Amino acid sequence: MEHHAALDAAHRHALAWLDGLRERRVHPGPGVDAMAGFAGPLPGHGEDPATVVEALVAAAEPGLVASAGPRYFGYVIGGGLPSTVAADQLAAAWDQVAGLEVMSPAAAAAEEVAGAWARELLGVAPDASYGFTTGAQMANFTGLAAGRHAVLARAGWDVERDGLQGAPRVHVVAGAQSHSTIPQALRFLGFGGTPDHAEADGQGRMVPSSLREVLARSEGPAIVCAQAGNVDTGAFDPVAEIAEVCRERGAWLHVDGAFGLWAAASPRLRHLTAGVELADSLATDCHKWLNVPYDSALVFTRDPEAHMAAMTWQAAYVQVGESRDPFQFVPESSRRARGFAVWAAIRELGREGVAAMVERSCDLARRFADALRDEPGVEVLNEVVLNQVLVRFGDSDEHTAAVMQGIRDSGEAWVSGTVWDGRPAMRFSVSNWMTTEADIDRTLAAVLTAHRSVTA
Ligand SMILES: *Cc1c(COP(=O)(O)O)cnc(C)c1O
Repeated sequence: MEHHAALDAAHRHALAWLDGLRERRVHPGPGVDAMAGFAGPLPGHGEDPATVVEALVAAAEPGLVASAGPRYFGYVIGGGLPSTVAADQLAAAWDQVAGLEVMSPAAAAAEEVAGAWARELLGVAPDASYGFTTGAQMANFTGLAAGRHAVLARAGWDVERDGLQGAPRVHVVAGAQSHSTIPQALRFLGFGGTPDHAEADGQGRMVPSSLREVLARSEGPAIVCAQAGNVDTGAFDPVAEIAEVCRERGAWLHVDGAFGLWAAASPRLRHLTAGVELADSLATDCHKWLNVPYDSALVFTRDPEAHMAAMTWQAAYVQVGESRDPFQFVPESSRRARGFAVWAAIRELGREGVAAMVERSCDLARRFADALRDEPGVEVLNEVVLNQVLVRFGDSDEHTAAVMQGIRDSGEAWVSGTVWDGRPAMRFSVSNWMTTEADIDRTLAAVLTAHRSVTA
């Protein structure tokens, strides 16, 4: 009973927030003092839980961003499908530890089933192992750790026992437009954050002939990092061709498919991901395009032994079961039960619903791009193959910056920027299950108002 008042208050506030998500100002703006409600001296004495919940809501409210809402187009951000928000609330209430099967048979079972469903949905090899991580950053890390194990084991080196000091050199190659979490994962793994680069084309796709040339500079262990879905353009590396180059060279192929891998769920878009079933490891987010609340992601590998060798550990008190123990596939030991929400998302949408959501996002991105192409002084920079649109306004960098600021100031939508071909550009990413044509048209109005006022 001691939970009721606090959870009742939280439930009421959560529903009010979700009900207002479509209409509230998307970002509070730079003038907000998000610290004001939180700051204060360390409390000496405790307070009633419901009072604390009310205080938390009051403190957070000014600095909250409607990034789970339908007109947040910055970065690549998903919302939360209703069953997944509920599943995460239950996961917190149940407070299961999804490390060992014996600690929560339910959490382990949910991960086992949801991971297998996701594998099938995404066209990953049917015997691939998987783990649930916090994000694609850690999924990239985990896949590349499995690769590090495998290529060094083939060279007779036990990297888990002996580390990298004195190990055979591993030649690591990434596309010139790989996501920044790839060098970050490589840093964590002791490879250093400056892999060799294979050239990328004008859309950011890795060029296989360049990869072949770069790989020919070395012999022995090699790891290649490709991507399915460039964070700015949405373009896909030609994974099937890259897999062939890797096979010839005996290199481990990791594919970062943080959002793009979800194209595989759509019969219409699946061709973009051709070859992912050949990748040795793959990373993807569930908190982006599957629209599961933060944080949630998946790593897959086609070498379960390497995957477990890279991640698992033993202790006398840790009771490993006959069945699948989630901690053996991820960097964390104790961890929250991410499988419930992923299981719920796939149940809520089904195969058809996931495909429809992904296709709708892409259609809406195209609607946005097509409308902008008709406007003088606006340039769409990318081939809109997926859910990403890259735009420049006017003939100066300042013009683009001013339009982006105008959109943000309007409160109607939120967009983020990037640098493409050495010059600032606006990124526009449609990944939320709620976004409708009306949201796109409303955003277009804000974009055109900003652009025309800067022009005038
Ligand atoms: C978002 C993203 C990542 C990082 O994912 P996190 O969920 O932030 O850890 C990696 N690669 C690509 C292509 C991404 O879009």
